[in-house]
Amino acid sequence: MNQSLDHPTSVIKGIGEETADQLAAMGIHTVNDLLHHLPFRYEDVRLRDITEVAHNEKITVEGTVHSEPAVMYYGRKKNRLTIHMFVDNHLIKVTFFNRAYLKNKLSPQDTITVTGKWDKHRQTITGQDIKIGSSVGSDFEPVYSVKGSITVKALRRYITSAFNEYGNYITESIPTKIREQYKLLSKKDALRIMHFPHSAEEVKQARRTIIYEEFLYFQLKMQVLRKVQREQSMGIGQHYDLQKVKQFISMLPFQLTNAQKKVVNEICADLKSPYKMNRLLQGDVGSGKTAVATIALYASITAGYQGALMVPTEILAEQHAESLSKLLAGTDVEIALLTGSVKGKRRKEILERLEAGDIDIIIGTHALIQDDVNFLKLGLVITDEQHRFGVEQRRILREKGEAPDVLFMTATPIPRTLAITVFGEMDVSIINEMPAGRKAIETHWVKHEMLDRILDFINKELKKGRQAYVICPLIEESDKLDVQNAIDVHDLLSNYYAGTYSVGLMHGKLHATEKDEVMRAFSENKIQVLVSTTVVEVGVNVPNATVMVIYDAERFGLSQLHQLRGRVGRGSEQSYCILLADPKTEVGKERMRIMTETNDGFVLSERDLELRGPGDFFGRKQSGLPEFKVADMVHDYRALETARNDAASLISNEEFWVSDEFTYIRQYLQQSGVLSGEKLD
Ligand code: ADP
Ligand code: MG
Repeated sequence: MNQSLDHPTSVIKGIGEETADQLAAMGIHTVNDLLHHLPFRYEDVRLRDITEVAHNEKITVEGTVHSEPAVMYYGRKKNRLTIHMFVDNHLIKVTFFNRAYLKNKLSPQDTITVTGKWDKHRQTITGQDIKIGSSVGSDFEPVYSVKGSITVKALRRYITSAFNEYGNYITESIPTKIREQYKLLSKKDALRIMHFPHSAEEVKQARRTIIYEEFLYFQLKMQVLRKVQREQSMGIGQHYDLQKVKQFISMLPFQLTNAQKKVVNEICADLKSPYKMNRLLQGDVGSGKTAVATIALYASITAGYQGALMVPTEILAEQHAESLSKLLAGTDVEIALLTGSVKGKRRKEILERLEAGDIDIIIGTHALIQDDVNFLKLGLVITDEQHRFGVEQRRILREKGEAPDVLFMTATPIPRTLAITVFGEMDVSIINEMPAGRKAIETHWVKHEMLDRILDFINKELKKGRQAYVICPLIEESDKLDVQNAIDVHDLLSNYYAGTYSVGLMHGKLHATEKDEVMRAFSENKIQVLVSTTVVEVGVNVPNATVMVIYDAERFGLSQLHQLRGRVGRGSEQSYCILLADPKTEVGKERMRIMTETNDGFVLSERDLELRGPGDFFGRKQSGLPEFKVADMVHDYRALETARNDAASLISNEEFWVSDEFTYIRQYLQQSGVLSGEKLD
């Protein structure tokens, strides 16, 4: 950036110290800041035919003053100025409040341009703005956010001066090749148009350029940061035995999907590289993440290391231990399970074997991060449902090894758009394909009054020997919310099924061991109907359950509904999801429709994002989402992806790090603190 643009705003004509201070309070310190204070919208000030303008609409008209304006004083210091003017052939009235001083500036026959609110009945404009002379020039006036005593009009003036005096110092920000490729405007033109546009079409072009620039620089920052972090984070290069890994994969009872192959390759490349892996593996429920994790663990073992798999609940730990044992049956890999219920002698024995290196893979809950759990040579740490664990817990586990590679797995699909921004410091792998032959879960949206028919339906499935989940948003009755609670529904269904089927109750207030007990009873089919709150959301696997009923479904987000739905459809039988909902809003109805239309978690999460916006998607406060001036991550996500790819190819090119052509970008990265000065030499 040219130095002149770094001058304080007070160098601009018309900006004194006081104004400069007020601008500073708005975050505008330098000329450059001022030039980058972009309008958040434009006012359409195109002239319109007055006969076509509706009552109370805002209009701008040009015409001539008909007779001497009149001023009427009233109250203390209040006055009203009335101008009669001709617009085309119409004689109309314009009134301004407390603008008596205008009277002496206006004479009959003068051309004026007036903006204000049109009272069609009284043929009067309540004036907001007046310009002496015709309206030549822009059809759109920029509207800026302002603070304190700075007005939009004053700001327009300052920006105009800034542009006239310093516009020529604006330098290019997007590499020429890229700019030509996408037919983007020069930086100077883009800024000029944003501030002084002639048409909406022009603004669109300028916005395109600025959006791309914002994304490109954002992506460059993230990716350079990641590159630097990686290069500084020496880990272990795990030289796994490719032949053995290949052989293991060929022994699996199924063929990997293409998506699985792709992510296995990504993970193995990380294992082998001398840097620490820090990767997020996303994949819908049932997409085969566990299989991928098993291959990764196996690879690490062939390189002489141990692996740990941490999951949030005991049940899940047991289920994982079982699946891994099956998958690894033909190998000599030693697997152990360590949860809170493993105690005393057994626990001691496991800990000893782990420390001696006799155990290759340890699977467990929080029990894994206790002080006395030590590894001989921990090489790979995998956590499932990563958002369930705090950063701290993940760190403790990681520190049990010397710079082990780390893989996070999640079945909560995060839209690609967000994943590439939010997890900027992590690499992201996505399994976006289901193993062949999966039956889609049939999803129906029904109104609450159809409960009887639903009970009939559940009965039919129970008679076939299947099981059902019934989800309620609340545990207990609430006087604030008129929604179903698990305790009441449990009572209702217990009565209904008395003597035929057993109904269980599960919710977050139960003790962890109680929860595990209920879950176990359900998975052993001692309970046929499980009434629960959303605590069953996480990874529980009961393949015999084929019905998922969700009360007050409109209260849940799409991603959460999808997680809940994922509890069924895990066996070979056709499964069903029934959404009981009477949404009041269009968005609510749309969400139910989307659920019935797709089983694809990524599609759902993208739609959810569109409907809710990124702030709501993560919860506004802790979202930590980057803010852009013009760009919108959801709306402009194509541009975001393009910029991401361009940033990646820029920084992977040796030229970028040495050529003068990119000096300004490297300087920018240094100023943002992601690149240290020395690195450039
Ligand atoms: P996730 O952990 O993503 O929920 P899993 O790895 O548990 O999914 O896989 C779900 C089921 O699908 C398991 O029974 C697993 O053995 C099976 N599976 C995994 N990958 C494949 C595949 N490529 N083809 C067929 N079945 C597969
Ligand atoms: Mg490595």
